[in-house]
Amino acid sequence: MAESVAVPAPGEHVRLGSWPTPVEPAPRLAEAIGLDRDALWIKRDDLGGLGGGGNKVRKLEWTVGAAVAAGADTLVTTGAPQSNHARLTAAAGARLGLRVVLVLRGHAGESRSGNIALDGLFGARVHWAGDVDQRRLAEITDGAVERLRQDGARPALIPFGGSNAVGAYGYVRAGMELLDQVPELDLVVVALGSGATMAGLVVSLGAERVLGVHTGALADPGRVVAGLATEVGRTGITTARLRVRDDQVGAGYGHLTESAAEALELAARTEGIVLDPIYTGRAMAGLIAAVRGGAIDRGTRTVFLHTGGLPGLFGHPAAVERAELGLDAYPSGGSEG
Ligand SMILES: *Cc1c(COP(=O)(O)O)cnc(C)c1O
Repeated sequence: MAESVAVPAPGEHVRLGSWPTPVEPAPRLAEAIGLDRDALWIKRDDLGGLGGGGNKVRKLEWTVGAAVAAGADTLVTTGAPQSNHARLTAAAGARLGLRVVLVLRGHAGESRSGNIALDGLFGARVHWAGDVDQRRLAEITDGAVERLRQDGARPALIPFGGSNAVGAYGYVRAGMELLDQVPELDLVVVALGSGATMAGLVVSLGAERVLGVHTGALADPGRVVAGLATEVGRTGITTARLRVRDDQVGAGYGHLTESAAEALELAARTEGIVLDPIYTGRAMAGLIAAVRGGAIDRGTRTVFLHTGGLPGLFGHPAAVERAELGLDAYPSGGSEG
């Protein structure tokens, strides 16, 4: 039924991950959220191999491939302090022997845990941009690229979140990989951040089989996803055809919502799977809300795309504190009372 997609590869490719990633049935979680026991799978793109894994690896294989083909010796990218994309760009640079400069929102020393600690471990140079909006962050990043050029480096700018049409191609291929593994799938549920992951999946699976859960990273996510899918080469993808839930943003991108906190607990306690507070926790909360609200019925063969983000959990004090509450459920009979 799927129209086959024949989207040409956007250029050079470097292999950074281990593919295909596994698909695992999740019967206990399915039952807990109201799906049939055999109707839920988890696609483990959190196990992508490089640098702690995550969905950014598939995008980087193409964006960094293009950079290397163009003769770059330095990768520059940008994001939030706990950016998984920045961490994986740092890891990709380490793997390939390229210098990495990360321009991150925020101030030095505000937080050094989670992804930031890994940025340091991978040897990336971090430039703190201050509390700036998206546009200013992009300007500061362009300035960093220009300075590197003046210093004689050959920098390549990897876009915010790895999300341009070149990066999205990694998820066109992931969608095809997934169809080989679960040919009967009805629906893929995915966190929608900077947009290229959903866009790539929409290209290979069709808009009706992809549910994106908006995380608050973009002002107009539907427009971005439709634009990327069109740019990659699939015609007929309009904002109106996309399935996007925007009920999980809460007080904003960095905030731990109650429904995400509950989703983290549920996935952990039914399947031993760790979600992150910003992306996969919201995506799972969106799936739960969709089943409870009747938008997805119980027999729908659903694949939850686990896009990674574990280091972000450790970089999120409220999420760690919430997780630690589990320790209080069974007080130890220890000697210290
Ligand atoms: C970036 C990210 C996403 C969102 O992917 P986009 O392609 O930016 O929409 C989802 N989950 C995790 C863990 C991420 O780091």
